[in-house]
Amino acid sequence: MALIVQKYGGTSVGDVERIKKVAERIKSIRDDGNQLVVIVSARSGVTNELIARAKAISADPSEREMDQLLSIGEQETIAFTAMALHAVGVPAISYTGAQAGIVTDKAYTKARIQSIDAAAMKADLAKGNVIIVAGFQGIDSDGQTTTLGRGGSDLSAIAIAGAIKADKCEIYTDVDGVYTADPRVVKNARKIDEISYDEMLELASSGSKVMQSRSVEFAKKYDIQFEVRSSFNHNPGTLVKEEAASMEKVVVRGVAVDKNQAKLIIHNLTDKPGTAAKVFRALADANIVVDMIVQNVGHNGVANLTFTVPSIEVNKAKQALAPVINEVGAKLSAQEEFAKLSVVGVGMKTHSGVAATLFKTLADVGVNIDLISTSEIRITVAIDQAKADDAARAIHTAFGLDKA
Ligand code: ASP
Ligand code: MG
Repeated sequence: MALIVQKYGGTSVGDVERIKKVAERIKSIRDDGNQLVVIVSARSGVTNELIARAKAISADPSEREMDQLLSIGEQETIAFTAMALHAVGVPAISYTGAQAGIVTDKAYTKARIQSIDAAAMKADLAKGNVIIVAGFQGIDSDGQTTTLGRGGSDLSAIAIAGAIKADKCEIYTDVDGVYTADPRVVKNARKIDEISYDEMLELASSGSKVMQSRSVEFAKKYDIQFEVRSSFNHNPGTLVKEEAASMEKVVVRGVAVDKNQAKLIIHNLTDKPGTAAKVFRALADANIVVDMIVQNVGHNGVANLTFTVPSIEVNKAKQALAPVINEVGAKLSAQEEFAKLSVVGVGMKTHSGVAATLFKTLADVGVNIDLISTSEIRITVAIDQAKADDAARAIHTAFGLDKA
């Protein structure tokens, strides 16, 4: 008997038929003698629809009310899933985040999990129930409903798997696992059997949308191994786990493209100590995540500072920067038509020549490199958006990732 945590994403529970399929899968695993805690997302599209309606009512809705609103998406799914299990004779009980003992901090819309009191879940498991938990939500110490950021059901699942010391954590989605590149763009992309937390994290934050990056960070921190797999078939998925020495044999594990980034350029920024600090303080205070920071060599006491932010935050960033820009007499411009392309692999730590191969391949397909940033296991370039898909295909081939 094993204790298994499963998470079903939005498309896996997208309609009544899909929910019945999920119930069948749960039933067969339980019939094999296992205990299950199942985390579910809102039906696909529901969260976006609720956000759109809120925005139609108010341009700037209160974050507390947004969390009240968005948490209903998952609450609908837990009840439907429990009912579907009852219909096939499986005892099941649904839990909201609060009922599951998920306590978070008070940061509405992007709360962090502080603790999980699993006593109630354990008691219900012991009685033979399957537990269905609403993902993406928790409760703060004052009893207020909070949500964990978009895609947060992944985090709920990983955190619960850690809290109840599950034997297995499975993240069910609509793709067979993590691929060497987006298979819709790179038709020779292959499913990866095993990947390290760090590689998964770099891919997740470089535009591969398989999982919420915060959840992967959490899994890494507490070493909670998990498998990403499809709820539409029974193929094995991708195992995400601690780095093993054998993983370094592969230099590049995957290629990711992110077209949802914007580039901000501050022209004529005074080149003296403290200016960059002011700029990034203002962005940090507005809770904007910045990536790829590049400052050119200063001339005549001024320099240009370029960095990237998520496209949806461009306006927020402009507003946050306006006072600083004014104060120092600089100028701000934004460019949204570009793509971030990344190659990721733990093998980069021990192999040389990755940058050379990457840049040569880009040159061969006529792509100019605008910005470059690196980590120990990743190289990212900012390039023309229109050429990003071609570049991804060429790079995939150049690093030997194409299907045999
Ligand atoms: N329903 C939430 C979202 O769409 C959480 C999730 O799906 O994981 O972001
Ligand atoms: Mg989701």
